[in-house]
Amino acid sequence: HHAKPGEEWAIVPAPLYDAPFWQGSGKLAGKVALITGGDSGIGRAVAVLFAREGADVAIVYLSEDRDAKATKAAVEAEGRRCVTLRGDVSKRTFCRKAVEQTVKALGKLDVLVNNAAFQVHSADFVDLTEQHFDTTLKTNLYGYFHMAQEAVPHMKPGSAIINTGSVTGIEGSKDLVDYSMTKGGIHAFTRALSGNLIGKGIRVNAVAPGPVWTPLNPSEKQAEDVAQFGAKTPMKRPAQPEEIAPAYVFLASPQCSSYITGEILPIIGGYS
Ligand code: NAD
Repeated sequence: HHAKPGEEWAIVPAPLYDAPFWQGSGKLAGKVALITGGDSGIGRAVAVLFAREGADVAIVYLSEDRDAKATKAAVEAEGRRCVTLRGDVSKRTFCRKAVEQTVKALGKLDVLVNNAAFQVHSADFVDLTEQHFDTTLKTNLYGYFHMAQEAVPHMKPGSAIINTGSVTGIEGSKDLVDYSMTKGGIHAFTRALSGNLIGKGIRVNAVAPGPVWTPLNPSEKQAEDVAQFGAKTPMKRPAQPEEIAPAYVFLASPQCSSYITGEILPIIGGYS
């Protein structure tokens, strides 16, 4: 049987939502995104790039230290709206409020980026306190779970959830035992949730960065720290947040990734 051009696709069921092919710009035109930890590091780079691609953004942040106002100004400089929401993602009531306020202020919710995380180095496993362990789990696992559960009822087919995982969730880091544990959990959460939400037309993927130079990491500033931090990568350097952010645009936009769900995308400078 020789199919005529176009005919061969007839056996493929139509997508649940309209997914135009890549158009080169405005890949998030008209979308609304909620980004936790959008005040700093990777989250800030994602917020700014999302705005550049046409999205209005809401950012969730924990304290004023990291300058949420700077993110807001950068988003507005791209000609988009930015809502800043201060609170703790480990608290269910805050997560509900954050989603409600986003929808109220920006009209809807198309993309959730779960990105806020707690990470503190502890060389000796036996020295990890229960309180430290609690904070890690509450922020990195409860936070992602609560935000997703509050967001999904507002999401229409074509929406996307992107979870920031980590290379530590694949390999484990000897100095970040509890953190690695949560990042592995986030990867499994991503895979499991993608299947659960597939009938709703909501895609769920994760980005798993290697070393990225952000305020999350201790003793920034010094050149030797940067070199050491990047030493394990074949590129011999950590990433800048702006080198991670485009993957979020790709995974958020149905133009780019309408057939991609449940995947973990490592961005680790050739690390693997
Ligand atoms: P960052 O510290 O620059 O930004 C994280 C932000 O999350 C903080 O500014 C804070 O406002 C917010 N946050 C933290 N706890 C919160 C809470 N309980 N409630 C609300 N907001 C909270 O860090 P980053 O390096 O940009 O990290 C972003 C994500 O990338 C995290 O999930 C982190 O685990 C992941 N990651 C980072 C690296 C790296 O090397 N920097 C590598 C792999 C993965």
